Amino acid sequence: MRLHAITVRKGDAQALRELLGELRLIDGKHRPASAPFAISFPLSREPDMGETLHLKKRFPKLEFSIAAFEPYLSRPKSLKDALRGKLTETETKNLVTSFDTLGDIAIIEIPKELSKKEKAIANALLESNPRIKTVCKKASARKGKYRAQKLTIIAGKRKKIAEYRESNCLFKFHVEKSFFSPRLGTERLRISKLIKKDEVVAVLFAGVGPFAIVFAKNSKMKKAYAVELNPNAAKDMEQNIKLNKVEGRVIPFLGDVREVVPAKLKGKCDRVVMPLPKDAHHFLEDAFMCLNPLRGGVIHFYTFVPRENMYREALSTIRGAASKHGCSIRVLRKRKVRSYSPDTVQVVVDFSAKRAKAN
Ligand code: SAH
Repeated sequence: MRLHAITVRKGDAQALRELLGELRLIDGKHRPASAPFAISFPLSREPDMGETLHLKKRFPKLEFSIAAFEPYLSRPKSLKDALRGKLTETETKNLVTSFDTLGDIAIIEIPKELSKKEKAIANALLESNPRIKTVCKKASARKGKYRAQKLTIIAGKRKKIAEYRESNCLFKFHVEKSFFSPRLGTERLRISKLIKKDEVVAVLFAGVGPFAIVFAKNSKMKKAYAVELNPNAAKDMEQNIKLNKVEGRVIPFLGDVREVVPAKLKGKCDRVVMPLPKDAHHFLEDAFMCLNPLRGGVIHFYTFVPRENMYREALSTIRGAASKHGCSIRVLRKRKVRSYSPDTVQVVVDFSAKRAKAN
């Protein structure tokens, strides 16, 4: 749109903006236009004689003109909105619009066909979500024992330390070196509500500490032992224990569940949480071993299963392991935690277990 305009040197921009504001001359609906050394402000009307003299006296080198200005755009409401006109129809279809945020870091999956547009997508994400300051893309699947994944920063601030809040807790961790899933937040709080006063809990596969620390802050448990194999995750967990002031109630162990449980946790716990989705069945024996031999206890077992008939496999694994290790079990609850892929879901089975004979 063509409007009356005033152009000054960039060094005078701030002072002129203030004066135009005082004179109620600035047009707030259009964006000032910037050139290498000068800036032009759009005016809401033509200045009168007195205003013109006043302005010229303050800024002898200013120039009046009529110029075209772009309107301020309102912030796009969604990623798709921000990308309107920048992607073809097929590209828009391929766009994955769900992403995880860990504090102000967003983690997005860029399908191969869209890799040339990744910068535009990341910028659109920054534009449509003012709380996001860094956009990373998944550069590898989660792999190895540590379930870590490679991430590449594609836009925004170059940082990989997340500060993430959940259920009155704050977690700081390196997004690439440790596993963390914000999607398990509901589970953490759900279990917190089941924990009774003075319970002793074992969190096997503790990561940077979210299960144990959420329990400490949201239940009346006595303490939680948190076992983690990845030294980077364990280091972040120690820091998170301090950050949340739960020292003494969350006791971290760096090491393999296989070794830590028999050495330190045998018979000490009332509840065992096993958030290792892929191979937790290999560790059921260790979970049984943690439980108090007289009272038994409750186990929360997470696993990935086919969407069809989702509990059959999980239950037969649990029953098989229980009979092998001389335990009697009772299923308390089972629930779908989240979809993992079109045909795989993550489920959790809560069951009580007690050793039928001493071993
Ligand atoms: N409970 C955490 C992390 C789950 S991922 C959370 O929800 O954020 C599984 C974690 O188990 C990883 O951090 C991995 O390093 C750890 N891990 C894998 N095998 C292990 C083992 N044998 N003993 C102890 N920790 C193990």
